[in-house]
Amino acid sequence: MPAPQCASCHTARAALRRPRSGQALCGTCFCAAFEAEVLHTVVAGRLLPPGAVVAVGASGGKDSTVLAHVLRELAPRLGISLHLVAVDEGIGGYRDAALAAVRRQAVRWDLPLTVVAYADLFGGWTMDAVARSTAGSGRSRACCTFCGVLRRRALEEGARLVGATHVVTGHNADDMAETVLMNFLRGDAGRLARGGGLGSPGEGGALPRCRPLQLASQKEVVLYAHFRRLDYFSEECVYAPEAFRGHARDLLKMLEAARPSAVLDLVHSAERLALAPAARPPPPGACSRCGALASRALCQACALLDGLNRGRPRLAIGKGRRGLDEEGPRREPQPSLPPTSEPVPDF
Ligand SMILES: [Zn+2]
Ligand SMILES: [Zn+2]
Repeated sequence: MPAPQCASCHTARAALRRPRSGQALCGTCFCAAFEAEVLHTVVAGRLLPPGAVVAVGASGGKDSTVLAHVLRELAPRLGISLHLVAVDEGIGGYRDAALAAVRRQAVRWDLPLTVVAYADLFGGWTMDAVARSTAGSGRSRACCTFCGVLRRRALEEGARLVGATHVVTGHNADDMAETVLMNFLRGDAGRLARGGGLGSPGEGGALPRCRPLQLASQKEVVLYAHFRRLDYFSEECVYAPEAFRGHARDLLKMLEAARPSAVLDLVHSAERLALAPAARPPPPGACSRCGALASRALCQACALLDGLNRGRPRLAIGKGRRGLDEEGPRREPQPSLPPTSEPVPDF
């Protein structure tokens, strides 16, 4: 059966069906629609005001690659400037290849790039050293947990270093829905109410943070990367991802099969949640060591580093467990099928 005509330009042949709407589009019209939707997310949510200097958390993976590319397309209309900030976690082999992808992007797109390293920021601790230190703890999620907290901090430091006013990360709707589901399943009401919106306003002196791809599905992120021929790094981290996130992901896939809007519904439901006054945690104070926002004496990053330096990483993980993966440790999923074949089953 020949492909139908593009429903937007009515001239080209459709190259895909949009996963949520089923609309048949050519690659060019799909990319334009994808960009327009991200623009709408940014403008309607007032995420990035004109004049903003935006630090893009660049990992070399598909999400941050697509985010950087889309924002670069939109930058003139938004009146913003971009600076790529990459974090070198110190993971031998894996990170070097991912950073090489970021460097190629910076050159190709003519964007400034700054790399900040865990080793420099955190007293010599690289992720490989953390892994060796936690090896006997028997908790496979330990590395991901450490990394989630430390990467967030490192990105903030890098953004400040380059004079950014805002931080953006590549989390997509699927990432967000997984996080919402995990928070529900853990009964973490505080996290649910806090993590809902499109970003945080930057309380406690932190830079405002947002996720312009929060309403974009993972499938469409992959499609956009494909049609724009973006070069990204798609290998999974050598350290085991958090197991519970994997279960949430599997559950979501089942829900989505029965109800295609399930992912977005979950994201939106979290946006609309508000905690009853009695359930609100006390307002956080400042970390006694670094001044960052903290609900205990030490912020999560300082507590983790403290545990590592004392040789008791398990203690640090156990203590801070409920509060550790704010936006979830990232895991770049391996595209299980080539991006061309997966979303176009119809023709
Ligand atoms: Zn078209
Ligand atoms: Zn601190």
